[in-house]
Amino acid sequence: MAFLTPDRAVLPRHSLVVGDTRETGGGGARFEHVYPGTAQGTGAFHLADAGDVDRAVAAARAAAPAWRALPGDKRRDLMFRLAALIEEKAAEMTPLLSIENGSIILAGPHMSADAAQKFRYFGGWADKIEGRTVSTWGGPAHDYVMYEPYGVVGVIVPWNGPLFAATMCLAPALATGNCVVLKAPENAPYSLMKLVEIIAEAGFPPGVVNLVTGGPDVGAAMVAHPGIGKIEFIGSGATARKILASAAETLKPVGLELGGKSAVLVFADADLQAAAKRGLSGAVSANGQGCVNGTRLLVERAIYEPYVQMLAAMAGHVKVGDPLAMDTIMGPVISEAALARIQGMVEGGLADGARLVCGGERLGGEHAPGFFLPITVLADVAPQSAIARNEVFGPVLVVTPFDSEEEAIALANDSDYGLGAYIHTTSLARAHRVAGQMMAGQVQVNGSGEAMTPCVPFGGMKHSGHGRLGGIEALREFQQVRNVWVNLQEG
Ligand code: NAD
Repeated sequence: MAFLTPDRAVLPRHSLVVGDTRETGGGGARFEHVYPGTAQGTGAFHLADAGDVDRAVAAARAAAPAWRALPGDKRRDLMFRLAALIEEKAAEMTPLLSIENGSIILAGPHMSADAAQKFRYFGGWADKIEGRTVSTWGGPAHDYVMYEPYGVVGVIVPWNGPLFAATMCLAPALATGNCVVLKAPENAPYSLMKLVEIIAEAGFPPGVVNLVTGGPDVGAAMVAHPGIGKIEFIGSGATARKILASAAETLKPVGLELGGKSAVLVFADADLQAAAKRGLSGAVSANGQGCVNGTRLLVERAIYEPYVQMLAAMAGHVKVGDPLAMDTIMGPVISEAALARIQGMVEGGLADGARLVCGGERLGGEHAPGFFLPITVLADVAPQSAIARNEVFGPVLVVTPFDSEEEAIALANDSDYGLGAYIHTTSLARAHRVAGQMMAGQVQVNGSGEAMTPCVPFGGMKHSGHGRLGGIEALREFQQVRNVWVNLQEG
């Protein structure tokens, strides 16, 4: 059956929102967006440029004093209204999420629900931003700590889950009284155009959230801009290095949520079916393009081969195809270039001695115009090989055996990255023992993504970044600290 064609009529048109002005394009180059399901163009618009960033920052700065001064209960009410409106408009948002980057349509309602919950969770904090008093040393004094917004925060997000990533930043940033300049990725712009529309409809004052849709130059202009107090960046380590180099000039603080090569530890005492199903989700979730997907499977030797065969059998039942079809479980990767890069990494893994268990070849036939790779499982992967160490960002799992708990922990931690870790075991003692030794920001025991709720801190260690989005830790990400000391002695 032919793939469904994206309906261009549902796409939002305003790629630039500056204060109360909504514009259909910026001052930058013309850009044609491509739908990864069929490689068809969905529309063209002019990207933002540095001048547009200037205007967006000016609008945010103009809105900042009143937004910061707005009582917390008012900010809370606005955020609750936004959450309700996002839920109300989920059916409008869903196709945009698929069209912009090939996400499966089945996931759309969950993405809207997740976005709404973030505004609800952090809206609940907006009226509870409190300082603390300090018991002082020395003479009589009163000392207290205040938590202040940065003023204007620049938020830069990637294409793989723009709504997820942007709301992870926007909700705590707004709750703590910051205004935002948000950069939508040019190759997946539609969900954020829609979100900013909904934010205005919810009654947020103009300038509190501004949108610039553009590429690396627009992000770079934001990082360099003196009017932005902090950058929150979600993306790759390579870009993070450039951002940090630029931020060195302005001494701007930068929050980093970066990539991963998250380990999945499967012990012989695990529920094998559940561990295989969850293991497979590392290839399937976000079409294999999720930062925290568990893609490096470490399996105890006693169950190694049955587990590998179970993965392959389950992979055969996953429907890969039309992102807009309701029965599709996995869609395409983002682009032709990404597909070629992923295939090159798989070939490199095979050349390094890995065994191809399933997948590996681009899908042809009705899939041919789009960017489709089936679930690809490589077994017997040497821990030092490039495919075991580098983020693939596609539906590729690498599997390596281990012989002891100590070896499993050592292998899991032997990575530049430290975003997620997944432990499969039925031993309570082992679960906690191993979890406590994972060099990763988020450890899940017998899970594969359920922990990704707004109430828990999310972020990485090592090359996966620093800072936390989610949970009360995210509030601190968007606040600076002021200490006030008052002399209680006269004269
Ligand atoms: P990327 O680093 O290429 O781009 C991310 C964003 O940065 C884009 O909006 C891009 O336009 C912008 N950008 C590029 N160069 C810039 C510069 N010099 N200055 C400022 N901004 C610039 O990453 P990507 O390919 O879009 O996304 C994939 C990466 O993101 C993966 O590594 C993935 O693991 C990571 N990611 C991390 C998380 C997380 O929460 N930890 C979430 C999603 C994705």
